[in-house]
Amino acid sequence: MPAEKTICPGCGLELESTETGLDDRFNASCACRRLYDELSCFTLNQADAEFTHQLIVDAYCAQHAGPKVKTISIAFSLIGLYLVFERDYTGRQVQLAHMALAKQSKQWHRFNPPPMTGTLTVSNVLNSINGENYRKNIHDWAGSVWTAWASTHTQVAELAKRYLKLD
Ligand SMILES: [Zn+2]
Repeated sequence: MPAEKTICPGCGLELESTETGLDDRFNASCACRRLYDELSCFTLNQADAEFTHQLIVDAYCAQHAGPKVKTISIAFSLIGLYLVFERDYTGRQVQLAHMALAKQSKQWHRFNPPPMTGTLTVSNVLNSINGENYRKNIHDWAGSVWTAWASTHTQVAELAKRYLKLD
């Protein structure tokens, strides 16, 4: 099959690939999802006490939120981004917060994505990885996603405060 250009419906990334389909689990092209898998392998293989990997999970989910993505996944990803960018949590602390939230059976609010979900993509992170700078690149990407969801910030903060009992 010849390579064709596909545009990822979540992040807008245009990639040349023989896989022109969409990934059912996310509002993403298969080609974009492959890049995520590549980054995921990279972050999981770092000896990283901060567990920066959590940030890529949340950033990717929030950037590729769509009708097929579970309500709870979108809510948790936004709460994760809130904790990192407004509360200075590490990925490890976010992971623990998600576990605490998961214990509370609750119907989570359905957050619908803004028209544009960030100015950077997983591709920007992969293209600029050079040693230890990966943490900063991931922060920049995730920060662009968090900024794009600005209209939900107040509501996400309220959820995090209430269910994690933050001040
Ligand atoms: Zn994408």
